Amino acid sequence: QNTINKIAAGEVIERPASVVKELAENAIDAMATAVTIEIKDGGISFIRITDNGCGIDKGEIPMAFLRHSTSKIKSVEDLMCVRSLGFRGEALSSIAAVAQIELITKTKEAFTGVRYVIEGGKEQNMEDIGAPDGTTFIVRNLFYNTPVRRKFLKTATTEAGYVSALVEHLAFSHPEVSFRFINNGQNKLYTSGNGSLKDIIYHVNGRDIATNLLEVSAKTQDIQISGFIGKPMISRGNRTYENYFINGRYIKSNIITRAIEEGYKGYIMQHQYPFTALHFTIEQSIIDVNVHPTKMELRFSQNEFVYDFVLNAIRNTLSGRELVPEVR
Ligand code: ADP
Ligand code: MG
Repeated sequence: QNTINKIAAGEVIERPASVVKELAENAIDAMATAVTIEIKDGGISFIRITDNGCGIDKGEIPMAFLRHSTSKIKSVEDLMCVRSLGFRGEALSSIAAVAQIELITKTKEAFTGVRYVIEGGKEQNMEDIGAPDGTTFIVRNLFYNTPVRRKFLKTATTEAGYVSALVEHLAFSHPEVSFRFINNGQNKLYTSGNGSLKDIIYHVNGRDIATNLLEVSAKTQDIQISGFIGKPMISRGNRTYENYFINGRYIKSNIITRAIEEGYKGYIMQHQYPFTALHFTIEQSIIDVNVHPTKMELRFSQNEFVYDFVLNAIRNTLSGRELVPEVR
């Protein structure tokens, strides 16, 4: 069991940012409206994620750390958890196998909170403790028992950069959730959770970008696009600012990236890339279901249609504001 979990952890848990992704998505699934993410040493020695979500029942805690244990399948059937991000039940067992975890959690119904400690997949302690409603996960010393994998980690600064980028993506994809990110005791990002994408752009990308945006809004039967794109003048020399989200997730699609960039042709110079913060809502029926859920690449059953629709949305937005093409 333990060995299987250690192997499985390799697929899901590669680095501190993977831990943060899984735990933060669990917090969002638990209907949290505020999530605080704190790391030290790039997240290698310390990660703490606190949410104000539904908490975990005392009786269900050990189960939650078992492989393939999830509370969400039935919730999906109940249509209770429409925004459920995870339902494979692998994250907690995978993280517990390769790190030291301390969990403090309390449900609204419970009179007291619970503190639970599990290290290398082995339960260490469980006790009642005073705690606010919600859940805190502390993950210490990632890969302490798998030195080879630990060697594959980059420097603390680089790992912290990955976590930071991930938190930004989470903030963009969930404007209704307030995120706080603290790195080595320093506040790095705060979003209010008021639902405004523009506010998030302001906090993540700064005033220069937030004040040079065009709003995009386009809808057809299978696709809806909403959000903002940057005016041509704020284009960049790399693709870091091309943010888009498909059905609430940060996923890459070659078709969509190419369509966006083609839409900007004539407005920005070659080797310049636009700022975008777009949300795509795409019917499941036209998304290629054979794509593995952890792979970040997506395909569509009607590539041409998706491409043309996105391209036109970008072009219409750019031209509709009577922007003068800058170069060709
Ligand atoms: P999955 O998310 O695929 O269900 P995980 O291993 O990530 O699997 O989590 C296992 C279970 O632990 C979840 O189904 C959920 O019931 C519970 N859980 C994990 N994190 C939280 C949290 N922050 N708040 C409430 N419940 C949680
Ligand atoms: Mg999960």
